[in-house]
Amino acid sequence: MPSLTSDSASQALTPLDQRIADAQAQLVDLTRKLISIPTINPPGLDYAAVCDLIEQFLVPYGFKVEWVRAIGAMGDSDKYPRWNIIARHEGSHPGDCVHFNSHTDVVSTGEGWTVDPFEGVVKDGKVYGRGACDMKGGLAASMIAAICFVVEHPDHAGSVEISGTCDEESGGFGGVAYLAEHGWFDPARVQHVIIPEPLNKDRICLGHRGVWWAEIETHGHIAHGSMPFLGDCAVRHMGAVMEAFETKLYPRLALRRTEMPVVPEGARQSTLNINSIHGGLAEPEEGYTGMPSALVPDRCRMVIDRRFLMEEQLDDVKAELHDVLETVGKDRATFRYELKELFSVLPTMTARDAPVVLAVADAIRQRLGSEPQYVVSPGTYDQKHIDRIGRLHNCIAYGPGILDLAHQPDEYVGIQDMIESAQVMGRTLQSLLLS
Ligand SMILES: [Zn+2]
Repeated sequence: MPSLTSDSASQALTPLDQRIADAQAQLVDLTRKLISIPTINPPGLDYAAVCDLIEQFLVPYGFKVEWVRAIGAMGDSDKYPRWNIIARHEGSHPGDCVHFNSHTDVVSTGEGWTVDPFEGVVKDGKVYGRGACDMKGGLAASMIAAICFVVEHPDHAGSVEISGTCDEESGGFGGVAYLAEHGWFDPARVQHVIIPEPLNKDRICLGHRGVWWAEIETHGHIAHGSMPFLGDCAVRHMGAVMEAFETKLYPRLALRRTEMPVVPEGARQSTLNINSIHGGLAEPEEGYTGMPSALVPDRCRMVIDRRFLMEEQLDDVKAELHDVLETVGKDRATFRYELKELFSVLPTMTARDAPVVLAVADAIRQRLGSEPQYVVSPGTYDQKHIDRIGRLHNCIAYGPGILDLAHQPDEYVGIQDMIESAQVMGRTLQSLLLS
């Protein structure tokens, strides 16, 4: 029998908890197999292989699967097809549908690994590998919770769905957004959504802050670098923009605090990141050995990433930046700029008394013996599409793993964490689908 940690041993195990605990070897094996498929995005490798694994695992337990390729979505091609899978187990009588959505893609490995990122090394009670915590461990935990639930309660009400979707790491357009656009998250067919992102087993993530990405381009006039007074340097204009950010914008953003329970604490204010800046000559090609030429830059481009709060309106966020740029223009006679919007997502936060929140909160209390922590993510995840396109607001993120390990070398997920969060998911299914 698998061992339980001392703090959780005091909570009595139900038959379903026990069934999940007994499935530990199956859970570890499944997590390792998921990790061993290198679904790196971009470019979006091996999505069909990971869908196939999910199908092979769930079909013997009575799940019916549908494959959906996001034809025409960003990134989809015959070389890199955007495959998604939805598996559904029908109960014996009508009821709600509880849907677990996991993204199957992972980011590239980067440097600094001490284990093979795609071997699924098991060491000291942890499974290591790219995607172990973000979020193949969560996907495996939800699959184990679902199969144990349907074996324990074959005549449950409603239905249990598991989806494996692609491209979350690059915006989710070929994954959850595509499914939402095609009705898969219509509130008439799905009532509760849990996204097992790595938020820790006792935390419920209600939503995320908003995002606005934009590009600012300052314009100048090209001239010979030895006579800069004959030109107009676009980089100096951008320097003035950055100075205005430092003296006017950043202090204002730091004062703006939210009631949203965003973690980490530093993200409970509005933030602005400068993603990139470029002015003047293009970077030389690798291997170019010559010198640069003497030119006054006539263009400088900056991409900004503004994260905003429930208490802010997107229009105000845009107007505030616009005002800062206009102020810069007052002191600089030749200041000209263009502002191009790239992308925006509104903040979202599911209500604490939404049915899925109440069910998971209760399951955490009963299984772990502790009060759940309610959190909001500093960055967005696929909930944005379920909320905005699917118009389904009964959605949270809940899953095993430590968020800080996501995208890092030697990423891992704790086996006991996966077991306990699978038990919380199992109890959640019991409270929503047994009637
Ligand atoms: Zn993730």
